[in-house]
Amino acid sequence: MKQPNILLIILDATRADYCSPYNPAQPSTPALGELAAEGCVFENAFACAPWTLPAMASILTGLYPSQMDIEAKRVLSQDYPSLPAALRAEGYATFAISKNSWLSASFGLTRDFDDFHKLWQVLQTDTDLTQVTLAQAYPEQNLLFGAAKGIARGNPLKNAVNLASRRLKPLRDADYGARRTLKPAQQWIAKQSGPWFAMVHYLEAHLEYKPPQEWARRFVDDWPLAEKLLAADQTRLCYRHVTGVERLTDDELRVWGQLYAAEVAYQDDAMGQLLRWLEHTGRSDDTLTIVVADHGESLGEHSLLNHLYGLYEPLIRVPLVMRGPGIEKGKRVSSLAQTNDIYGTALAAAGATLPPGARSLLDAGAARSWIVSEYGAPRVPHHELLTRYGLRAEDFAPFLRSLQSVRTGQHKLIIGSDGVVELYDLASDPGESVNRVGDAPELLARMQGLLAQWRAEVGLASTEGSAPAARPEVAPEVAARLRALGYLD
Ligand SMILES: [Zn+2]
Repeated sequence: MKQPNILLIILDATRADYCSPYNPAQPSTPALGELAAEGCVFENAFACAPWTLPAMASILTGLYPSQMDIEAKRVLSQDYPSLPAALRAEGYATFAISKNSWLSASFGLTRDFDDFHKLWQVLQTDTDLTQVTLAQAYPEQNLLFGAAKGIARGNPLKNAVNLASRRLKPLRDADYGARRTLKPAQQWIAKQSGPWFAMVHYLEAHLEYKPPQEWARRFVDDWPLAEKLLAADQTRLCYRHVTGVERLTDDELRVWGQLYAAEVAYQDDAMGQLLRWLEHTGRSDDTLTIVVADHGESLGEHSLLNHLYGLYEPLIRVPLVMRGPGIEKGKRVSSLAQTNDIYGTALAAAGATLPPGARSLLDAGAARSWIVSEYGAPRVPHHELLTRYGLRAEDFAPFLRSLQSVRTGQHKLIIGSDGVVELYDLASDPGESVNRVGDAPELLARMQGLLAQWRAEVGLASTEGSAPAARPEVAPEVAARLRALGYLD
């Protein structure tokens, strides 16, 4: 059988319930809806982790974050073969395009792609000049010396063009890269004569939510309030809200969610252009297209915003839609699916032998009856950020813990490294508001047993939640780039 091309589209921080195949009241993602009508919707798909680095590492290796120790190491070790490397061994050409700095060579996630297009640069050079622009944006971080070295490295002329282009633009403009994704992806795909694997990563739904104004106006019901939020430092608002220092009002939270919905819709429109081009150029029938979010997003549930500090449903329930050779049209799969199985799915489609433990989502016999998600302990935020956001280190004390959760079709157990245990019946309590840990001992024991079984299966020590680990420092320019994305440590 001919090897299909594989297009893996990652929608960063996109919740399932903000996508129309999952929520008819949210008709904002027609392109995903069209793909769903022609392919298969996984109704209950879950991320392995609630933020980009571990979540993407799991998608690209088939493993769980703690198996790779990626939250402590902050880099995908060479010990774990990644999907692009495995597909290259099967004869595939491989390409990735991203605006998210976690998807860069610094963290190992893009190491094995033949071509990686960094959307944060106008011209593609090996030198990453984000440091230079961040030196301008964050003068207090003393990045200028490193920045000067960066300009001199590699091709100085190209580097100067990248630098000049960034001088003219703010760090976050209305389009966060979605439009600029299309052409490089098309150009690379059009060049291929053999089977190809392209990973296209959209960052529009990631905080901050500042969509083009015409898109915002379609979703917002209080424009003056939206203008206030669009003009604000949303990362500052987010962390002041989450720590309880200064909560957003209910009206502000409603409009916050509407701006997020506008971003999801704008992102879908950009994705639709790529999918239509694939169709018009006769490539879609030979291509396995997989659309998935790396993780979800909190929009006020449990007083959380952004995608940190929790494993509640908004953070781990993600859209997952596939279309392509061998996939039944209009199918909806209700059994549980976990995003690390995308690895085995792609390998199986390519005709490769699956490594032990890997499974394909297209193999109904390999469906999961429970899924596991993990969150590594965050650290106290950098002191400069505390100053900028008007916060104290102790405001973050309740959040400095790791979490593990196990979820069946109906129940969910979350265990924190601080000893806090939460147990929910999702059938009667989808909002996870009634902790049943004290009144359902048999259920608690059953769920704890599943988590213990998972730890044994993946070869982890049988401790409940891992203790916060010391982490290596990342280069200052990379840290600064991530802080611009709203990551605090
Ligand atoms: Zn992400």
